[in-house]
This record gives sequence, structure tokens and C-alpha cells, in this order.
Amino acid sequence: MSKVLIIGAGGVGGVVTHKCAKLPEVFGEICLASRTPEKCEKIAARIDRPIRTARVNADNPEEVVSLVRDFGADLIINVALPYQDLSIMEACLETGVPYLDTANYEPPDEARFCYKWQWDYRERFREKGIMALLGCGFDPGVTNIFCAYAMKRYFDEIHYVDIMDCNAGSHGRAFATNFNPEINIREITQRGKFWENGEWKETEPLSIHKTFDFPEIGPREMYLMYHEELESLVKNINGLKRIRFWMTFSEEYLTHLGVLQNVGMTRIDPVNFEGHEIVPLKFLKAVLPEPSSLGETYTGKTNIGCMIEGVKDGRRRRIHIYNVCDHAECYREVKAQAISYTTGVPAMIGATLMLAGVWTGEGVFNVEEFDPDPFMEKLNIYGLPWVVKEIE
Ligand code: NDP
Repeated sequence: MSKVLIIGAGGVGGVVTHKCAKLPEVFGEICLASRTPEKCEKIAARIDRPIRTARVNADNPEEVVSLVRDFGADLIINVALPYQDLSIMEACLETGVPYLDTANYEPPDEARFCYKWQWDYRERFREKGIMALLGCGFDPGVTNIFCAYAMKRYFDEIHYVDIMDCNAGSHGRAFATNFNPEINIREITQRGKFWENGEWKETEPLSIHKTFDFPEIGPREMYLMYHEELESLVKNINGLKRIRFWMTFSEEYLTHLGVLQNVGMTRIDPVNFEGHEIVPLKFLKAVLPEPSSLGETYTGKTNIGCMIEGVKDGRRRRIHIYNVCDHAECYREVKAQAISYTTGVPAMIGATLMLAGVWTGEGVFNVEEFDPDPFMEKLNIYGLPWVVKEIE
């Protein structure tokens, strides 16, 4: 039985806490900490076992260190924002406690995410003899594990990967984002990028799109974007010729986003407003619905997975490996929508594998570097069953 410290009490933090609470034999004690303690208390009140709550500003490693020591944590699950990744990793090094997150570091004043900042911690985690597991949500996370599983079970060589993220749900609001609005809008408005024949190719934001018929959902328009798992998968899949990431958006969503961009509301540089400096995107976040508040009215499904093509025993082969998740079912189970659910469940599973010593190592790792089998088994058990379809 271990003590887990969960940092971040948003949509994803709520799911991780609910799911960890259901496994008292693994997570003997749980502490949920965030910048706004009332959010932790609200989540804890919905769970039928004691959850300790705490206030922490995770931008400040010393605050995290003193909380880790006071609680006696065996593992930190970081589901706050990407801005806090490095300060929490510093606290892990100081206390000798392993680390897990679901999104790679991003500097607040530059809309650019990349693994370099966290990979640069490899040597220090190795020297300290502890493990950091990066990107253990759904995408990144399960999509990387789908690739590792395909490599292990279905292919001798993987040549083409298309990661496809479809949310066909409806929350009934005119415009809202399914995870933190600031991080989400920064990600979507940046230039597109994919990897082909050994080099990165850039595209205008959301300029390349096509229709795909998603199982259990139907045809949806999906847009090529850059996403962080491409960076690690390019390094970790041998023989790869091309990898791309696609996400579906409704026309209504794109129209709203276009207007917000055109009027300057997605800017991340400070502007002077009545004598105060404000960042327009941060202000926009403050007036948009919280991702954790969307679940109650959400209906419809997500389908996230990978279309993978390569060679097995000298023959070409293509598979589609995916999970379908239902927003309303997630809400019934853990009071959250499917995007928070599909992120929080893998984080909990990754934590169980680390604490059990099934996924073990010293240094900083991406999920596809480990044996995918135990993770894939647990996805079926804990609410994210997957399907493999051979495509002729
Ligand atoms: P939310 O905005 O709902 O929650 C973020 C939480 O982090 C809030 O409780 C917030 O507190 C807290 N927080 C922010 N800054 C600090 C700080 N300095 N110290 C302590 N706590 C802080 O976001 P989500 O739950 O939707 O997303 C959480 C994470 O999951 C993000 O990093 C996101 O990128 C990642 N994600 C990953 C996915 C994947 O598949 N890999 C998919 C979806 C999300 P406060 O309320 O006070 O602001």
C-alpha cells in the first residue's frame, strides 16, 4: 500500500482521484493538492473514503517539497498544468520521489511544447535512482502504448502511423474546451507539423484536413496538428517513414476559435488594460466554462486511436487500434466528461505499474519504452476497452 500525491484538482485530477480511491490495496493513502483548495475538497466530498486535501502552488518547488515530506508521498501524479512540470520534477529530485505526468513542459510566455526540457532531467533522475514517466494520459499516453503494442504483436516494422482523436460529444455550450482552455487553445492555434522521411514538415494551422469514418461515430472532419507524442514516437519506433496527428473539430468550434483569434483574445503576450497588465488568453480562460463543469450535460462518444501500417512476415498489413468512450457513462461513474476520463484512467494505471515495480527504471521515460502488455490489460479492466481492426 502506497501514498500517492495528486497535484491538480481540475477535470483530470478529479478522475485520477476517483479511480485511485477505488484501489485501496494499491493507493493506501491519497492526498489531492492544488492551488485552489476548495476544488480539492469538492472532489474529496464525492468520494466514499477519506482523501487528504492540501493547498499547494506547484510553481514553487519548496512548497511541493514540504508537502511531499509532510504527507510522506511514494509517488507524485502531476495533473496540474504543463507549466508546473519542471518545478514538480525538481521537488521529486529533492525528495527522491518518482514522478508521473500527462503533458509535456511548456513555458508560459511561449506557445511551444517539447520534451527537451524534461528529457534534460534524465541524468539527474538516473543519479538519484528514481523514475519519471512522461505523458501517461490518452494522447500522449495510450496512443504511444497502442504503437508499442502494435510493434510487439502485429508488425516486424511499422512504416506509417496516423493518430486520430475524435470527440463527437456535445456539451450543449456554444464554445468550451475539453481540457484546460489556455493549454488547449495554445495547442490548436500553433502551426501544424508532421514527420516524413526523416524530417519535420510544417503546415499552416489546421490547413490540412480530411474526412474519416470513425467506428461507432461515423464520418467526421479531422485536422492535421502537431502533438507531443510525435516527438517521442519518432525516436522510439524503428523504421518509421511517416507519423501524423489528427483531431476532429466541429465547424461551430472553428468559427468561434477564428473569431477569438481575429479579435486578439488568444494572444499570450500581456496587454495594458486600465492600468493592469493582462494576458488575453488567460482572461478568456477565466470566462470560459471549466472543463470539469462540462460533464453533467455531455452526451456522445470519443474515438481515439492509431491507424498503423507496416510489414509482418514480408506482407503489408494495416490495423486500426482504438478506444471508444461515452461521455454520459463517464459522468455516471466519476462525475467527469470523457476527455478528463480518458486522461485520468491511464494516469492511474501508469501509477499502479510504477508502484508495483512492473514498469521500473532510473531516469526519465516515455510510456512506449515499457512493455505495453500489462498496461493494455488494465485498460480493459479499468474502463477504457480497446479494439484492434485489421484493415484490408
Ligand atoms: P484544469 O484546468 O481543469 O485543471 C488544472 C488544475 O491544475 C486546476 O485545479 C488548477 O488549479 C491546477 N493548477 C494550475 N496551476 C497550478 C499551480 N501553480 N499549482 C497547483 N495547482 C495548479 O485542466 P485539466 O484537468 O483538463 O488538465 C490537466 C492536465 O492534463 C493538463 O496538463 C492537460 O494538458 C493534461 N491533459 C492531458 C491529456 C492527455 O491525453 N495526455 C488530455 C487532456 C489534458 P486552479 O483551479 O487554482 O487554477
